[in-house]
Amino acid sequence: AAALALSGCSSDRGSSTGGSTEAASGFAADSAIGVALPDKTSENWVLAGGLFEDGLKEAGFKADVQYAPASNTVAEQQNQISSMVTNGAKVIVIGAKDGKQLGTQLQQAADAGVKIIAYDRLIENTPNVDYYVAFDNFKVGQLQGQALLEGLEKRSGHAAPWNIELFSGSPDDANAAVFFNGAMDVLQPKIDDGTLKVVSGQTEVAQTATQGWEAENAQSRMDTLLTGNYTSTTLDGVLSPNDTLARAIITSVKQAGKDISKITVTGQDSEVESVKSIMAGEQYSTINKDTSLLVEQTIKMIGQLQKGEEVEVNDTEQYDNGVKVVPAYLLAPVIVTKDNAAEAYKNNPNLLDIVNAAS
Ligand code: BGC
Repeated sequence: AAALALSGCSSDRGSSTGGSTEAASGFAADSAIGVALPDKTSENWVLAGGLFEDGLKEAGFKADVQYAPASNTVAEQQNQISSMVTNGAKVIVIGAKDGKQLGTQLQQAADAGVKIIAYDRLIENTPNVDYYVAFDNFKVGQLQGQALLEGLEKRSGHAAPWNIELFSGSPDDANAAVFFNGAMDVLQPKIDDGTLKVVSGQTEVAQTATQGWEAENAQSRMDTLLTGNYTSTTLDGVLSPNDTLARAIITSVKQAGKDISKITVTGQDSEVESVKSIMAGEQYSTINKDTSLLVEQTIKMIGQLQKGEEVEVNDTEQYDNGVKVVPAYLLAPVIVTKDNAAEAYKNNPNLLDIVNAAS
């Protein structure tokens, strides 16, 4: 909580009873801030909503946090963003459902002087995205690739070559390709030199996609891969881009009668059920992208905008959205396996309890 307190804001807030004090080229300290999140399919989005709600209020702002509903999702998120602009939000934080379809709404925001922060997912093909705040997603992919190699070595019970399959996330999420490309940066040379064999031959991002990041889509693709390729062939590992999909893949593999303790499945997000699975020796790895740190950094950026200060970024090269390179603040992801879980979650009592209960 201490880290979320924006000192400048709280004093401004104290002095503004009714009227609002406006910093030079900033905006009133009690302004409305919109937060548009894509869905609740992964635990991180659910956590983020609550943290934004509390953190923005604590910093003196009015928080308007919305999730896109399950149906008509893209159109509904577009409507939510338009309403936030109309209702006078000064900054809108967006976890995009489809990062390529917000051009009209973001033009409307820019015309109204509203600042846009792309949160976790890049927003593409528009000049009207001011900042990007995320964990370094290419690095996430590289760590997943490394974890896969490490797990194959440790768990398969045999030397290379290893048989693997590859999964990627939803094609409407800009992160999906970034994770996949990061992983392939590590895995492609090993495919080329014969260390790894993708038995299905499906190595393109489009062939490996999981529409909507939905568990059932990953599970049915895995079922198909298993019946088509692994009835009499050993499966050694699966690159999974996140925890929700990892657990779906593991369910499929177990239903096919395979011994999961010998198979390496990667993940991401440190979801509760996956941390349990890792401790039980099923899922091999996850990535810790501490949602509270990401929300905290975002609220810090909003505080800088409010005061009319320069917004702190640490990357101005990596995230080209097709129109411009979006100035970014990137946080460092951490790889987690059973071996370092206690250390990795030492600041997360909830996950640490799970680790301790299992060790
Ligand atoms: C996020 C992941 C998440 C996925 C599905 C991605 O954009 O970066 O953390 O697992 O969306 O919600």
